[in-house]
Amino acid sequence: MFIDEYVLGASPEKCKILLVDDQVVNIKILHQLLQDDYDIYMARDGHQAIDMCNKVKPDLVLLDIEMPILNGFDVCAHLKNDPNTQDIAVIFISGHFDEDKEVKGFKLGAVDFIHKPINPVITKARVKNQIKLKSQSDLLRSIALLDGLTGVANRRSFEQVLPVNWLQCSREQQPLTMILLDIDFFKSFNDTYGHTEGDVCLRQVAQKIHDTVNRPYDLVARYGGEEFVCILPNTDLIGGTYVAQQIVDSIVSLKIAHESSQVSSYVTISAGVATIVPTRDVSANILIEAADKQLYLAKNRGRNRVLGAEVMAAELATV
Ligand code: GH3
Ligand code: MG
Ligand code: MG
Ligand code: MG
Repeated sequence: MFIDEYVLGASPEKCKILLVDDQVVNIKILHQLLQDDYDIYMARDGHQAIDMCNKVKPDLVLLDIEMPILNGFDVCAHLKNDPNTQDIAVIFISGHFDEDKEVKGFKLGAVDFIHKPINPVITKARVKNQIKLKSQSDLLRSIALLDGLTGVANRRSFEQVLPVNWLQCSREQQPLTMILLDIDFFKSFNDTYGHTEGDVCLRQVAQKIHDTVNRPYDLVARYGGEEFVCILPNTDLIGGTYVAQQIVDSIVSLKIAHESSQVSSYVTISAGVATIVPTRDVSANILIEAADKQLYLAKNRGRNRVLGAEVMAAELATV
């Protein structure tokens, strides 16, 4: 996902609201009020509400307090304690004004209270405000994980994603592949065309890598200056080398002039690939070091090429 897509709101999807109430008539009233502006989901009890929150990931929940078995407070506490659902905004709908209950609700992490019988204008306005706040904080959260210049994931997201993939692949005993990429002779590109053109080139290269690596769980991140990294879970060395070669070829096909390059008249990139079937007792740094070594060899053997190696976790663990 690129920053522009967030800022320009390229996704035409409506925000999602979950209505939770044990009385159907209350759900109907809210549904009628909000259905034109939002995608509406409904739940009749607390357990259903929690299930829906995990499945649908609504932006906002309008949550009745008085419900049998699991009341609104219990549901809110549950949502706020689970990292998967803690960012969902909760507005309580309460039968009557009760200051102690409101204090309790805010302490549990609710963002607002609405009283029954609901006033349509006030309810719409409050919902709209909270949806706006939620969209803004979602945007900030995503920008914090994206690289400002190129729009691909940043180093921080790479550092968050790698251990997750490492654990997942070690649990499933699946191969995990890393591709390290470094633009060739980029210092002389800047020297020849200027830093601003250098930045334009970095953006084009990042976009191309992003377009070339397209499985849903693959990650493309800017690793540093003119270096990028891809993490490909459930991918062996043959598959990873194939993707890396596609990236290398696609960068040449961009035909970005680079007259001071010593390998081509166009901008080129070198790739180091490393694959491991991870185990919990081996550090993920091993994979980065192995990919870096292959990248170094690719540079030494003429650049604009891919080199790769398999890493044996079992051998490392016994060393
Ligand atoms: P090699 O083929 O061995 O990789 O040579 P190189 O010139 O690409 O490598 P080196 O590490 O010497 O230079 C990297 C250059 O990348 C240095 C710096 O000018 C440039 N660079 C790093 N970050 C940025 C950036 O954000 N914008 C621009 N325009 N240039 C950058
Ligand atoms: Mg009720
Ligand atoms: Mg470099
Ligand atoms: Mg370089």
